[in-house]
Amino acid sequence: MAESFMDRFRKGLERTRDILNADVEDLVRGRRPLKPEDLDAMEEGLIAADLGLPATQQAMEVLRARSADIWTGGVEAMRRLLRDEIRSILTRPAGVVPFTTRPWVVFVVGVNGVGKTTTIGKLAAAWKSEGRTTLVCAADTFRAAAAEQLAVWAQRTGAPFHRGAEGTDPSAVLTDALRIARSKGHDAVLVDTAGRLHTKGNLMAELAKMARVAGREIPGAPHETLLVLDATLGSNALNQGREFAKAGGVTGLVVTKLDGTAKGGVAVAVVRELGVPIRYVGVGEAVEDLLPFDPAAYTDALIGS
Ligand code: GDP
Repeated sequence: MAESFMDRFRKGLERTRDILNADVEDLVRGRRPLKPEDLDAMEEGLIAADLGLPATQQAMEVLRARSADIWTGGVEAMRRLLRDEIRSILTRPAGVVPFTTRPWVVFVVGVNGVGKTTTIGKLAAAWKSEGRTTLVCAADTFRAAAAEQLAVWAQRTGAPFHRGAEGTDPSAVLTDALRIARSKGHDAVLVDTAGRLHTKGNLMAELAKMARVAGREIPGAPHETLLVLDATLGSNALNQGREFAKAGGVTGLVVTKLDGTAKGGVAVAVVRELGVPIRYVGVGEAVEDLLPFDPAAYTDALIGS
């Protein structure tokens, strides 16, 4: 039987949950009343799971303010308060409503190696299963290997694919791709962008230029800019997020590699700091390992029940 959505979320967050609950589990087994030191242990768990200091402090303030409930309600009460607080941090209004225009143009940005190509492959496949045609555009003309890899994903999915010659202007490649998508009536365009140039300033300027070019071809484009962050990088993912957020235009986050890490709490840290919702999470390398983000499911999988 296919695994449920919740099972896959749970499995993806297993290592983070173990870190977070190590001390609490001992408590549950001991079945003794909670003590103030137990809140300190919870705080250490949150830090160890990479929730970051601001989110940890926010959650701990609530736990300490409601400690009377915790002394009477025990571990369950503590978990419930924590779940509510984390869920409220993660719940952000969606900035955009997908597919309200055709083609729906999505830029995928992030540092090399975080999982941009893989995410695009998975998204193109998911949208195809919903009956949508997605043109995949390799606008990273600095890395031939990236375009090759993207071509493989596109072929596997049966998605139309467009790339330019190595070293050509990414904006020119993008313009061609958008014209093709418009003339063929494709539903969406997923644009893989460069993850590294000679300097960060160059990279951000390049992305800004591509956004201008897209807007000239298709009104309102890019309709979404998804920033991909690698959860295994922990707080470094947050630093990367800050750089891209500064450049502006990011409408949603994709947090990848949640399956391979105990740092899954970084999802909470990035949403709290960047103020942008997570749209998808990656929980493995296979095509089906991209899940639409669900704050409640994520929180339950993180805290355990
Ligand atoms: P890009 O350089 O940003 O395009 O990154 P890639 O898409 O090439 O991904 C880099 C590596 O991360 C590849 O080996 C992917 O298979 C792997 N990867 C991407 N997403 C995930 C994920 O959600 N989980 C795991 N375990 N690996 C992932």
